[in-house]
Amino acid sequence: MAQSGVRVRFAPSPTGYLHIGGARTALFNWLFARLHGGSFILRIEDTDQERSTEASARAITDMLAWIGLDWDEGPGKGGPHGPYFQSERRELYRREAERLLAAGRAYPCYCTREELEARREEARRQGLPPRYDGRCRQLTVARRRDLEAAGRQPALRVVAPTEGSIVVDDLIRGAVTFENVKVMDDFIIMKSDGMPAYNFACVVDDARMRISHVIRAEEHLSNTPKQVVIYRALGYDLPRFAHVPMILAPDRSKLSKRHGAVACEEFRDAGYLPEAIVNYLALLGWSPGDDREILSVEEIIRLFSLDRVNRTAAIYDVEKLTWMNAKYLHAMDLDELAGRVLPFLEAAGFDTAGISRDWLKALLAVGRDRLRTLGELPDLLRYFFEAPEAYEEKGMRKYFKPGVDALLAEAKAVLAAVDPFTVEAVEAAYRGLAERLGVGAGQLIHPTRLALTGRTIGPGLFDIIVLLGREESLRRLQTAIDFINASAHNEALT
Ligand code: GLU
Repeated sequence: MAQSGVRVRFAPSPTGYLHIGGARTALFNWLFARLHGGSFILRIEDTDQERSTEASARAITDMLAWIGLDWDEGPGKGGPHGPYFQSERRELYRREAERLLAAGRAYPCYCTREELEARREEARRQGLPPRYDGRCRQLTVARRRDLEAAGRQPALRVVAPTEGSIVVDDLIRGAVTFENVKVMDDFIIMKSDGMPAYNFACVVDDARMRISHVIRAEEHLSNTPKQVVIYRALGYDLPRFAHVPMILAPDRSKLSKRHGAVACEEFRDAGYLPEAIVNYLALLGWSPGDDREILSVEEIIRLFSLDRVNRTAAIYDVEKLTWMNAKYLHAMDLDELAGRVLPFLEAAGFDTAGISRDWLKALLAVGRDRLRTLGELPDLLRYFFEAPEAYEEKGMRKYFKPGVDALLAEAKAVLAAVDPFTVEAVEAAYRGLAERLGVGAGQLIHPTRLALTGRTIGPGLFDIIVLLGREESLRRLQTAIDFINASAHNEALT
C-alpha cells in the first residue's frame, strides 16, 4: 500500500467517545497519508487500565470507519508492526526500559506518591516549579536493596537534561524552543505498577512503528521535548512533528459538552452525513487556499498540505456544519439519499414496508429543500406518512373560514375526476376551478394545503397532492370539510 516513506498514526486513548477534535486529528493524518501514498496507522493507547474500556475502543473505531477514515494497519487489520493495542505491547516497553536502565539513562525511583506530593506542595509554597529533584539518581545499590526489602515498588525515571534547551521543529508552528531548566525534570517512563507512562509508550511505538510524521493536537506540544529526550536516550531517529491548532467553542472557551453535540456518534444519530463532517472538519484549521467551502474528499486530499494548517485556534460552529450538511443533502443523488433516509423513517416508527423506492425518491425530490439533517425528515415531512392530527392554529384562523368547506368540496369533486393524476393535470384542474368559481387560486390552494398537511408552508401543493395520491387526498379533504362544518356549528351554538 505504502508507496512513500510517509507513515502517520492516530493514537486515541479509549476512555470515551470519539469527539470532533479527535476526528479532526485523525482526518488530518489520514489526508496526509492519502495525499502522499503513505500509510495511516491506528493505535489504541489503552495503558490507563482504570479509564480504558473495550467498548470505547470499539466506539472509536466504528466512528472512524463511519466517517470513512480507513486505516492501513491497526485493530481488525493487523500489520507488520502490531499488536496495535498498547496493552498488548507491555513486554516491548519493559525491554526498552531495561535497555535505558542498563545504559544508565534511566533509574529506579522509590519515592511514594505522598512524598512526591508533599515536595510539590513545598515547591509551590516557595514559588518554585514543581519538578522532581532527582534524589533517587544517587541511591546506592545497598539503599535500593533496603527500599525494595521494605516493599517499595520503584517507578523508572529517565535521566533528562536540566540545562540548555530543546528545539522542536514543528511543521505547523515552526521552531519552538523549550528551556530545560523550566520544563524538564527526570520524568517517569515506567510507573511502579509496570505500566509505561504515555510519553514513553508513545515514543517506543512511534519509533517501532516507523512513524515518519507525528500529527497531533496542540495540547501535546508540551510533551514533545520530553519525547525528544526519550528518542535520544533510546537512540531512535526523530519523526517530524506537526501540532494542529486547538478547536474552541464560538465563545472561545474550551469546547465541551455544554456547547451541544461534540461526539461523532451524536452527529451520526442526528442524521449528519459523513461526507459533510469530513468537509467541515477539514476546514477546521486548514484551508484550500481559496474561499471554497464545499469540497469533495478527493479534492481535499489533492489540496491538503500542512503548510496551510493555521497556527491559531479554529472555532467550532455547529451552525456551519449544519449548513454544510444541508448542502450535501440537497445535492445528493436521490437514490443514495433514499437509502440513507430509510433508517430514520424506521426509527420514527413510520411504516416503510408499504412505500416504494420511487415514491420515496419523488418525495425527497420535492421535500428535501428545507431538510438540514436526515433526522429532521420525519418531523418535517410527517404528513406524507400519516394524516395530520391537528391543523396549525394560525392557518385555521386564516384559511378555514365559514364557506371554505364549500370550496373544498368543489376541489374534492375536481380531484376525484382529474385524469391523469399528474402534477400538471392537477394544477390545471385547480386553476380551472378557481376561474370557474371566480376566486383567486390562492383561495383554493391555502385551505387545501392546510387540509392535507395541517401546515401552512411546505413543498408545492400539486406535488403534495400527487404524492399523497388521489384517495388519501380526497379523504383528508373530507376530514377538513367535516371539521370546518363542525366548528361553524359549534360557533353558532356559543
Ligand atoms: N493517546 C493520546 C491522546 O489520545 C495520543 C497523543 C499523541 O497523538 O501522541 O491524546
